[in-house]
Amino acid sequence: MAQNNRRKPNILITGTPGTGKTTMSSALAEATHLRHIEVGELVKQKNLHNGWDEEFNCYVINEDLLCDELEDMMEEGGNIVDHHGCDFFPERWFDHVVVLQTDNTILYDRLSKRCYTGSKLTNNIECEIFQVLLEEAKESYPEDIVVAMRSDSIDDMTRNLDALKDWITGWSPNPSD
Ligand code: ADP
Ligand code: MN
Repeated sequence: MAQNNRRKPNILITGTPGTGKTTMSSALAEATHLRHIEVGELVKQKNLHNGWDEEFNCYVINEDLLCDELEDMMEEGGNIVDHHGCDFFPERWFDHVVVLQTDNTILYDRLSKRCYTGSKLTNNIECEIFQVLLEEAKESYPEDIVVAMRSDSIDDMTRNLDALKDWITGWSPNPSD
């Protein structure tokens, strides 16, 4: 694998919408002084999309524009990237990939509270049942950097946060040197 010169690690937090990516990423960023990049917000703010998808009610991300926008920050290191997909990011960007997972019933409640209905709601629940994001992460990154973490409760969140803080503290650049 290509060497990199990062002095701080890059972490990807992925998972089905509602599994707690943004909550976890912002808490982790606050605790570690890493930079939280909420991809959906960045895409909106900087117009890194090809318009609005009427069927799925979301922006169609322009993946090339997004990756160009992120490249320098990722090279520098110290980023927590929060996104519900991961197959189009360069593999070399990430040192650790976290896939958050939530019990279907709990996820259903969270998404209903967020006013998801109809096919948008059922598509996301199916996405979670079939572990789509975990499979995507395993196909896109080396298996030894991908971890699944349960995110059903506040206790889970606290435990995950502690584990990730420890991982960041223990990380050192270019371990093969
Ligand atoms: P995502 O960014 O993955 O879509 P959010 O971080 O926005 O998810 O979380 C969705 C909702 O679920 C929020 O109301 C949040 O407070 C709640 N939540 C997230 N993770 C947990 C958890 N581990 N336990 C309980 N509630 C959670
Ligand atoms: Mn989010």
